[in-house]
Amino acid sequence: MKVIDILNNGKVNVSCELFPPKVWSQVSGAKQVVRDIAKLSPSFMSVTYGAGGGTSEHTVDLSREVQACGVTALAHLTCLSTDEEKLVSVIEQLKADGIENILALRGDKGELSVPGAFSHASELIGLIKAHGDFCIGGACYPECHPESPSVAADLDGLKIKAESGCQFFTTQMFFDNNVFYKFMYRLLAAGINVPIVAGIMPVTNSAQLDRIVSLSGSGIPLRFKAIADKFASDPAAMKQAGIAYATDQIIDLIASGVNNIHIYTMNKPDIAESIMSNLSDIIGK
Ligand code: FAD
Repeated sequence: MKVIDILNNGKVNVSCELFPPKVWSQVSGAKQVVRDIAKLSPSFMSVTYGAGGGTSEHTVDLSREVQACGVTALAHLTCLSTDEEKLVSVIEQLKADGIENILALRGDKGELSVPGAFSHASELIGLIKAHGDFCIGGACYPECHPESPSVAADLDGLKIKAESGCQFFTTQMFFDNNVFYKFMYRLLAAGINVPIVAGIMPVTNSAQLDRIVSLSGSGIPLRFKAIADKFASDPAAMKQAGIAYATDQIIDLIASGVNNIHIYTMNKPDIAESIMSNLSDIIGK
C-alpha cells in the first residue's frame, strides 16, 4: 500500500521507526524487533538507511520483513554518500521486493560524500521517479534545517522538494508542539500543502537528550528540561516520564486535528507498546 493513501485516509495514523543493524550477525535480532513492533499494528513502519550506505542491504531486508508482517514499509534512502549506480540498485531491489514507499533524504554532511553525489534530496526524488511508481516522502524541519541560512530559505528548499514529487513530509523530532503548529502555518503561507507527519521522539534516558540536542538541533522546552533534571539519575523513572511526555505531546496533536504521527521508536518495542497502549482508546487500537 502507498503511504500517501494511508495519510489521506481521514483516520488517526501512528507509524513507527526502526533502524537496521550495522552487521549481519544482528539482523535476526532486528527482525524480531520488526515482528514485535508490527504486532502493535502501526499504520506503517519506516526503516532508516545507514549513512555511508553500509547498512543498505539491511534496510531492504528489514523493509521486506515489515511487509511480511502485513505492515506497509517505508524504506529510507540517502544520496550524499552513495553513488548513482548503488542508488539505482537499491531502488530496483525495493521495487522487486514490492516495497512501494521511499523516504528520499540527503544524509548528513559529516558523512563521506562520494564524488558527483546528489547534493539535495530533490535530485534523488528525480532518480526514484525514473525507476518506478513509488510513493516518495521527504524530511522537513519545524525548527529549520541546521544548515539553512534562514527559515525562508529552508521553506524554499522544501517547496523545491514538493515540486520535485515529494508527496508527504515527516518532521524532524520536536518537543514543543507550538513549534510544530507555527511551522504548519508557515507551510500554509508558502503554499506547501502535502500531508505532514509529526515526528515524536520518546526520550527515555538522559544520554539520549544530549545526543538529540547536538545532532538534530531540536530545542528542549523548560518543561521537559525539568523532567530530565529530576529523573535523569533514575533510569526507570526517566523512562516512565519520557513515555508520558511523548504520549502527552501526541494526545495534544491529535486533539488539535493532527492525524499523522510518527514515533521514533528506536528499535524499542516496549516503549512503542507503552505509548500505543496509552493511546489505545484514542486511536482505536
Ligand atoms: P535536503 O532535502 O537536501 O535539505 C537540506 C537543506 O537544503 C534544507 O535546508 C532544505 O530546505 C535545503 N534544500 C533542499 N532542496 C534544495 C534544493 N534543491 N536547492 C537548495 N536547497 C535545498 N539520515 C540518514 O543518514 N539516514 C536516515 O534514514 C535518515 N532519516 C531521516 C528521517 C527524517 C524524518 C529526518 C527529519 C531526517 C533523517 N535523516 C536521516 C537525517 C537527514 O539526512 C539530515 O537531516 C540531512 O542533514 C538533511 O537531509 P534532507 O533530506 O532533509 O536534505
